[in-house]
Amino acid sequence: MVFMGTQKVKAQSFFIFTLLLTLILFCITTLYNENTNVKLIPQMNYLMGVVALLFLNTIIFLFMLMKYFTNKDILPTLILSLAFLSGLIYLIETIVVIQNPINESTLIQTKSNDVSIFYVFRQLSFIFLVGLALICSDQKTQALINNKRKFYILLVAMVPFLVFPFIAHNLSSYNPDYALYVVDYCPNNHTATWGINYTKILVCLWAFLLFFIVARTGLTSDVWPCIALLCLASLCCNLLLLTLDEYNYAIWYISRGIEVSSKLFVVSFLIYNIFQELQLSSKMAINDVLTNIYNRRYFFNKLDGLLNSHQLPAICVMMIDIDQFKKINNHWGHQVGDKVLVSVVDIIQQSVRPDDIFARLEGEVFGLIFTDLNHAQTKIIAERIRKNVEFLSAAGNIYDIPQQMTISIGAVYTECQNLTVSQIMTASDAALSDAKHNGGNQVIIHRI
Ligand code: GH3
Ligand code: MG
Repeated sequence: MVFMGTQKVKAQSFFIFTLLLTLILFCITTLYNENTNVKLIPQMNYLMGVVALLFLNTIIFLFMLMKYFTNKDILPTLILSLAFLSGLIYLIETIVVIQNPINESTLIQTKSNDVSIFYVFRQLSFIFLVGLALICSDQKTQALINNKRKFYILLVAMVPFLVFPFIAHNLSSYNPDYALYVVDYCPNNHTATWGINYTKILVCLWAFLLFFIVARTGLTSDVWPCIALLCLASLCCNLLLLTLDEYNYAIWYISRGIEVSSKLFVVSFLIYNIFQELQLSSKMAINDVLTNIYNRRYFFNKLDGLLNSHQLPAICVMMIDIDQFKKINNHWGHQVGDKVLVSVVDIIQQSVRPDDIFARLEGEVFGLIFTDLNHAQTKIIAERIRKNVEFLSAAGNIYDIPQQMTISIGAVYTECQNLTVSQIMTASDAALSDAKHNGGNQVIIHRI
């Protein structure tokens, strides 16, 4: 149920963000078309976008790396961390290019071309590394990946991680012998045009990767919906580039804006997932797995805290034991025994208030703490619990218990301030033993 719930949240968030992204894209393109005289966005703005991406990539890289270190069996997380780390190399190169002052008019072209090369290769590295992570993400083959296979997979990952940036660096203006022109510059009217084929290839690759992610993972884990979202954002950026026939700085600004917002969303989503897991594990640390009520640790900690608070007028602790429970196991089997335990817990829970501390202490023994009862009320409540179990487990009961169950209750009522947990538990245990020796199905209260 919990799992289904989180999946629903993930699918919803993904859908909402897609809508949001479409809306932002629509607004930006409308604004841009209306304001066509805005041809040059200050470089400072672009630099801010790139620096923001540098930090966001670092955060996601560290997140993925830590995720991998917590479970080293899941190799795709390590490859995904490399995908985000690879982005840092290109982003640093881009920052260096932007930082260089423009001296001559031709340098604008060189600069634009270099930034474009790093952008194209940054996308290629990411696409190939995510693709590799996806190929290794099959749950069934996960266990079969031994150290040798791991080594070969990581060796393959080094191609988009190290070789691609090396190629990109040498195709940029750093190495005049091998120049690649992603942007064509027309010196007559000082305009630049996109090498549209690069964008078309990237659109195809992003679309294929997105389809591959959805088909293979079904977006069921906590990480893959985020990666799919980034693919969708990149697809949108490239489609936006396709719609323009004239090179324009504004489009760079818009693309980085989309990239920053999608990565920011991914970071928040990953953090949200951590908090959800934290909440789940802290719940598991204080709850009993079978009955879902508090466990022994929580019960004793709570009792200790209450006894040390010095503000209680009185406290009542009950120990409840199911009578002849071993016979249920022996006669009907352990599974029915478990079902009876859960049913008896439900009956007891319905007989007390939600604020009363109810815990499973061991096997078929439970504990209850009340802080607002007087001695007379203690007797009434304990009897009510006992009778409810006896009557609601009788033949024809809604719980489908095969045999009528009874319980014995040993209770301790005290107004004394200086008692320890151990004294209280010893006293309630003694009361429970008295109830058992008297034949069970009864309540014994000791006042100390
Ligand atoms: P008494 O009336 O004296 O309390 O007898 P009893 O049979 O209820 O108590 P006893 O301590 O002899 O046996 C408790 C049994 O509870 C033994 C154990 O196998 C069973 N038990 C403990 N925990 C679980 C559980 O989680 N599931 C199931 N099915 N049985 C459990
Ligand atoms: Mg018992």
